[in-house]
Parts: sequence; structure tokens; C-alpha cells
Amino acid sequence: MYNNLPFCPTHSYQILNLLELRKEDARLICGSCLLNLIKTQQQFDANKIVDLVQINDHPEKAFQFTDIKDKTDLVKFLNDQKEQLEVIKQAIDNLLIQLEQWQSELLQEQKTNFHNIIKLDEFKSNFQLLVNQNNSFKIEIIQQIQNKFYNYFQSIKVMNQVAKQEDLQNLEELYDKISKKVCKSEKFEDIFTLINKVELDYVKFSNPFWKLLMNTIQNNVKRQVSQKKPIYRSLEKGLTFQAIRNVIIGKENLLWFFKSSNNTEFGVFTPYIWHESGYSGTTENNPSFLFSKNLNQIYPIIQNMGNYTQWFNHNQYLLFGGTGNSDQDLRINPDFKSGYSRLGVVYKAPAGVDTSKYSTHLLGAMEPNVVECEIYQIIYE
Ligand SMILES: [Zn+2]
Repeated sequence: MYNNLPFCPTHSYQILNLLELRKEDARLICGSCLLNLIKTQQQFDANKIVDLVQINDHPEKAFQFTDIKDKTDLVKFLNDQKEQLEVIKQAIDNLLIQLEQWQSELLQEQKTNFHNIIKLDEFKSNFQLLVNQNNSFKIEIIQQIQNKFYNYFQSIKVMNQVAKQEDLQNLEELYDKISKKVCKSEKFEDIFTLINKVELDYVKFSNPFWKLLMNTIQNNVKRQVSQKKPIYRSLEKGLTFQAIRNVIIGKENLLWFFKSSNNTEFGVFTPYIWHESGYSGTTENNPSFLFSKNLNQIYPIIQNMGNYTQWFNHNQYLLFGGTGNSDQDLRINPDFKSGYSRLGVVYKAPAGVDTSKYSTHLLGAMEPNVVECEIYQIIYE
């Protein structure tokens, strides 16, 4: 039916299947007209071109020309997840075949050494005695066989006393060879990475606050996040500065979550490498921010104060912002209970918050009273 569309007056035999939306009117155009537009318009806006045929076939695509286009995120999400899961399925199928190969290679190559080591001949001859009994039960013979088996299993218990050194060594080399093959293939890692991406997309979808955090990071850093890797959970590693120090020193792009005893959740993202003592940060393109989950708010860094983004000393305190005169935007002491918050020094305070003194805005109380902490490393595509 599309063959019946009118031809372009300027480009012969090209159908007018596209619509160029302009400020005051619209114009039917063909594929060649579109190419001309792309070539000649300095700020060509692809969102102003409607593929009429596509919308006729897939009416839901008309959503993108409405002001409720966010609603199409669901369509996109379902489709993306489907595609990504298909890729994972394929990768898992490949890995299953590979595992089968590694397994049979191992069984095949270890046969001789393995049989020597476990003295298979001896086992077999004992077993043959058992089979030869033809369902009869003669007490003395059974006792003999029991003893033989006992002696057999006793004799193979301590390997380096019975097996030839050469056999043991061959076996070890073989195990080493196959282990290296498995690790080197990175087939497991590939699947984990793919799953991480699906997980992240799902978390963003199912948890609006995560979506806000991830979108803020992506917009500020101007890169796509591919993974949020948990590197610390206080519930597992203990809520101590020492445990935190063990995981953060030398790492960058960390996203921190704190939960207080009154269920206030807040945190921070900074891209800078953590070291012991001394402020880090930059006064340009600094993407850092503090956030409150309870209030659904982001407090971006004030760019010209960016030198004071973060500070850590495991004997003293964890600081975000501040110029050294007890004026940090967030300070947590090693007991996790004490500290304070005063937004607006280095991180932007929302309207109405008094920035001249400590406040309960971020912490829900005058002190942090942190009872839980989690740290994630953000990894980009
Ligand atoms: Zn044309």
C-alpha cells in the first residue's frame, strides 16, 4: 500500500513518507529531502522528523511526539530487557557447551594418572570378588572381602606414600592447565557483566530514587553507568572506619549510602580517588553531590568550592564539604553516632534551609546516628 504514496516533486520516484515538523507548519518530504536537511541544517533535529509509515505500522511510536513520552519508557524497558536477556541466554548456552568440553577434556586426560593413583586395578579385583559371590553369603569370605576393601581404602588415603610422584605431578599440571583455561576464557565474567547491566536497568526501573541517582550521575559525568558494584556492606563487614578504610583507599567513583537510627537515608557520590587525610576535588566539572532519599533531593556541589569535596581519616572523621572551621556539609565521626550536617557550605542547600548553622535537614536529627552503611563503586560503559 505504501507504493501508492505520492512521489516527491523534487526527487523522482521517491515516495513522500516523512513529515518535517516546523514551527508554523509541516512539510511532506522523501528520503532524499531528509538527507539534504541533514547536510544543510546546522542544528538538525531528528525529533522533528516523523516517519509516517512507521507510525501507521506502530501507532505507539506517536507517543514520542506527545508531552507524555515518559510513559513509553515502559515499552522501551520491556523491550531492552527482552533483548538483553536473549543475549544472556545465548551466552549461558555457549558456556554450558564449553563446560561440557572442559569436563570431558579433564576426564579424558586425567584417566591414566588418575587410575594409577587410585590403584584402580586393585579396587577392581576386590570388586570382582564381591561379584563372584553370586548372591551367596558366606561369612568368612565376606569378612575377607571387607578386610580387602578396608586395606585398599587405607592404602590410598595418604597419596604421596603410595602413588608415583610422576603421576601426582601430571595430575596437578593437568588441573592447573584446565583451571587456567576456564579463567582465561572469561566466559563467566562476560555473563556476570551482562547480568549486572540487566540488574541495574531493573533496579532503575523498579526504584524511582535509584533512577534519580543514576540519571544524576550519568548527566553530571556525561557517561553511561554500566554497573554499580557493591564494595562494602556494614552488615557484613562491620560498621567501623577501619573496615571502610580497607575498601575505599585507592578507589574512585564511590556512591555512599547511610541509614540512621531514625530511618533517615542519605548519601553522597564523588568521582575522586580516596586517600587518607587531605581534601580532594576539583573546581570545574565536579559531578559530586549529596542526597537525601527521604526527601528525594539532590544537593550538587558548588563548583568553585569543589576543592573541598571529600576527606577521610580513619582516626578522625569522614567529611563531605567544609573549609576546616567545623563547617562541613556532612561530618561523620568514627563512632558513626556523632557528627553533624550543615548544607550550603560546599554542597548546595535547598531553598529555606538555614546554611549558617547545623541543621536536621539532611540527617533528620542533629547527629548522624548512622546504623548502616553501604558503598558502591560506579563503573561506566
Ligand atoms: Zn524529495
